Amino acid sequence: MVEVKNQVINLKMYIDGEWKDAENQETRPVINPANGEVIAYAPEGTIEDARAAIFAARTAFEDGVWSGLSAQERASYLFKIADKIDQYADEFTRLETMDNGKPLREAGFDVADAAACFRYYAGLITKPDGYTYHVADPIQAMVVREPVGVCGLIVPWNYPLLMSVWKIAPALAAGNTIVFKPSEVTPVTPKKLFEIFEDVGLPKGVANMVIGAGPVVGNEVASHPEVDMVSFTGGTKTGKHIMKAAADTMKKVSLELGGKSPNIIFADADFETAVDYALFGIYAGAGQVCSAGSRILVEESIYARFVARFAERAKQIVVGPGDDPSTEMGPLVSQQHLEKVLHYIELGKQEGATVACGGNRIVHSGLGKGYFVEPTVFIDVKQEMRIVQEEIFGPVVVIQKFKDEEEAVKLANGTVYGLAGGVFTNDGAKGLRVIKKLRSGITWVNSYHPTYNEAPWGGYKQSGIGRSLGTFGLEEFQEIKQININLQVEPIGWFSN
Ligand code: NAD
Repeated sequence: MVEVKNQVINLKMYIDGEWKDAENQETRPVINPANGEVIAYAPEGTIEDARAAIFAARTAFEDGVWSGLSAQERASYLFKIADKIDQYADEFTRLETMDNGKPLREAGFDVADAAACFRYYAGLITKPDGYTYHVADPIQAMVVREPVGVCGLIVPWNYPLLMSVWKIAPALAAGNTIVFKPSEVTPVTPKKLFEIFEDVGLPKGVANMVIGAGPVVGNEVASHPEVDMVSFTGGTKTGKHIMKAAADTMKKVSLELGGKSPNIIFADADFETAVDYALFGIYAGAGQVCSAGSRILVEESIYARFVARFAERAKQIVVGPGDDPSTEMGPLVSQQHLEKVLHYIELGKQEGATVACGGNRIVHSGLGKGYFVEPTVFIDVKQEMRIVQEEIFGPVVVIQKFKDEEEAVKLANGTVYGLAGGVFTNDGAKGLRVIKKLRSGITWVNSYHPTYNEAPWGGYKQSGIGRSLGTFGLEEFQEIKQININLQVEPIGWFSN
């Protein structure tokens, strides 16, 4: 076991280069989901705190202390931040596991990815990005990209560090100033990240962090007239609130939302590979992954064999505290979320589905104080059931049967979501044919889950608007300007007098 210091951390917000408590001094406890212990106290930020952060970001943007730097200079800060994340990788990993619950192995990947994401955008921002175009002489026309301005960035608790970085790195690379809000449930590693921002000497007011309840602090960020853009990752219901809050001031909005993603297994797939990825697809992160393959669709000729093998392996997954190196699946993030997931399991039973394995909270083996749930499989489900239609965001999967390609696609596309999807087959043409029919933004053939800084991430339908990562993720944080230069400076002569 990694040694975890039992010291309660006092978190602060970072506004205009200063570490601050909430203006009313209120705090809320941050809980280790593996044992229910308080690991930190976080400021319960207020609307006034959010406004102070917005004001600082607006002032820094107007002063040009960041947008006025060359791309090369901004990149050099981002490279330094990446190096510091690597330097403190062990501490980040330990803190992430303590706060979110995920196993050290998963937290370690997230930390490495976070450093790589800063490096990716540091490199990208110095590359050519403009256009020229041909119009009538004597005009020379070109297009340049500029920062949007003050960006409000709001993130969830499932990847506390990585989701923060997916927004902060491109937003800063593009020259914006930011007001960032982590989830109030998992603010510990974001705070460590902001310590690094201070350490590398980011000019004050460029990166601000407010911590507090979504409907209070988050809503203020989403609705305030001095915020030019809001980039949000979280649940679809909250995404709808954000869109409404941002509408009055016509902010640019980018939304990465929930999913109920299909993983389609054809009979001709490599059987053990398909089972293995299907397990990874749903139980990595204890199912608290937006792209989780939470609906497995299996061709009928191999359905019974697949369910038996999948359940056999699901039962063997080692569930435990994230800081135990033998743990393969950690707890759910909070008591409240545990209750939500258990509620869905009860609902599935009431709807008439059969539990093929799992279905219970784990209270034995010293896990009773944490928020652990068994890897759970539902079969005998119908497409209209709520456990098939709604995002459960836990280690709960439904396995459905299909007859042919057409039915597989119909079932796969049969929810309001469209985030991710996978297909397993040894027929290359079929794999691509089916993937092209999926109404999803992130897809895999004979694989599931890998994410790349270079590739766009985001959903169709109610899974969101816009894309993170890659060149697309940078463009989200940029405005586009056309510049037309008259090379023959003389009056146009439109009016005779
Ligand atoms: P959530 O929507 O409850 O909260 C996300 C963030 O929004 C938090 O910081 C929260 O404080 C804030 N918030 C809540 N209400 C708000 C309001 N009214 N105004 C402004 N901000 C508000 O989501 P969660 O439970 O933290 O995270 C889980 C969800 O995130 C899942 O639905 C998951 O699919 C989604 N998610 C999506 C992606 C993606 O890339 N598409 C990635 C990770 C997580």
